[in-house]
Order: sequence, then C-alpha cells, then structure tokens
Amino acid sequence: MPELPEVETFKRYLDATSLHQPIKGVDVRSAYVLKGVSARELARRLKGRRFENSHRHGKHLFVRANSRLWLRLHFGMTGSLEYLNHGEVAPKTARVIFRFATNRRLAFDDQRKFGEIELIEDVNEFLQTREIGPDALKVGLSQFKAIAGKHRGAMKAILLNQRSIAGIGNLYADEILFRARVHPATQAATLSNMDLRRLFCATRCVLGKAIALKTDFNRLPKSWLLTHRGKRGRCPRCCRVLKSQMIGGRTSWFCAHCQKRAP
Ligand SMILES: [Zn+2]
Repeated sequence: MPELPEVETFKRYLDATSLHQPIKGVDVRSAYVLKGVSARELARRLKGRRFENSHRHGKHLFVRANSRLWLRLHFGMTGSLEYLNHGEVAPKTARVIFRFATNRRLAFDDQRKFGEIELIEDVNEFLQTREIGPDALKVGLSQFKAIAGKHRGAMKAILLNQRSIAGIGNLYADEILFRARVHPATQAATLSNMDLRRLFCATRCVLGKAIALKTDFNRLPKSWLLTHRGKRGRCPRCCRVLKSQMIGGRTSWFCAHCQKRAP
C-alpha cells in the first residue's frame, strides 16, 4: 500500500513529467475511483488547464490546476502513476488518463480500485474537514512527543492513525519501531523521553531513506526489518526468528528480543 515515501516518489515523478502542459481531455475508464465528481465534470473542469505544481500531505497528493482548483489523488492499496509518451499503450488497469496537448498522457493506474480522485477547492480546508494530522516529515520533536503523550493506546496504533500523524502505514511503522527498539504494542504513555526521541529520529530516517531510494524494495538496506519481514524471517540484528501479532487491526512484525515490551 503506498505510504508517505511512495506518494512522495509519485509527486516527484509527476513534477518531473506532467506539469505545465495544457490538458486536452480526461478519459475515465473506471468511475469507481472518482469521489464527488462525475467523469464529465472532471473532464470539463480540467480541460484547457495545466497542472501547475503539486503538494503532498501524508498519503494524499494535491495537484494544482489553478488557485481554486486542485486535483486530489489518493493511491489506496495499489495506485500508481504512469506517464506515457505518444504511442505508448496505457496499462490495462489504468482507471483515469489525463491527456495533454503534447500528445503525452498521465495514467492513474490502480488494480484494486481503492484509489481516489477528487476535485477540491482548498487543500487546508480538506485536511481540516478530514481531521488529517500533521505530515510525518514535517513534525518536530516537541510536536512528536506531544502527539504520543496526547493519544492513548499502543505506539504502533498512534503511528498508523492518520489523525495523529499523517503518512505512515503498516510497513514503515514496523520499520520505525524496529529501528527505535520499541515493541509495537508498547503503550505510548509508558515511553521515556529517550524512547520518544529514538522513535522521532527513526521516523525521519526511515521515511527519508525510503524516499532517497525511490522506495525500491530491492535496494533497501539489509539491516532493515522490511527486507526480512514475514514468516521464517530473522532479525537482521540478532538473527532470532521474527514474531508477528495483530495490533490496531494490522499484522505487526517485530523482534521480541530487540524490541522488548515494557513490563
Ligand atoms: Zn533482534
């Protein structure tokens, strides 16, 4: 599932390929991903405009078409972007295709159709209405500590909750907790200042590194949990077999030796 690093990678890809070209039309192959806008309305409002710039917040990507018109993209479980040169065939699972006057196209590909495309007028208003928390890469240390102090529950659940901190999903949450040596079920209220500082640094480090590697899983460091996560996987630090547990409705992988649960 695309998390903050994947969406940031899509943003950079879109910025590098799809800005400043007049939009000639929009083909909607599956209206299922459209939220609050019809295929006809989407095409009508974007036609003749250009994507001017983009902004990412958490797992949402906002693409500006003018000062009061933004395209919001959410990549659901399997969403991605593909820029197509003239003559290139769009993927079979492309759901919406933005056609530019340059004869190039931007495809919103989404096999499982949990993605979302919407037109909005105001990014901040959207974030407030949805009660989406601060972006995980823009949170400072004191804010991070305040968030952990304010929310009750397991630290893993707080990292996953988009209302407390936006952008982290199941995979990177496990990686952050592993790096900080915090058991995923640890109650946030019991964490020391030092634990929270380590979690904060791990969040920055893990997300930043994943972005730098363009989220290519094959290039992730072997010292990461993510490259060993799963049945019979072993801890890259101590070589013990990894454990899994359902926390906050999601399967967490961790090393019970390196990530001791507070008594
Ligand atoms: Zn270990």
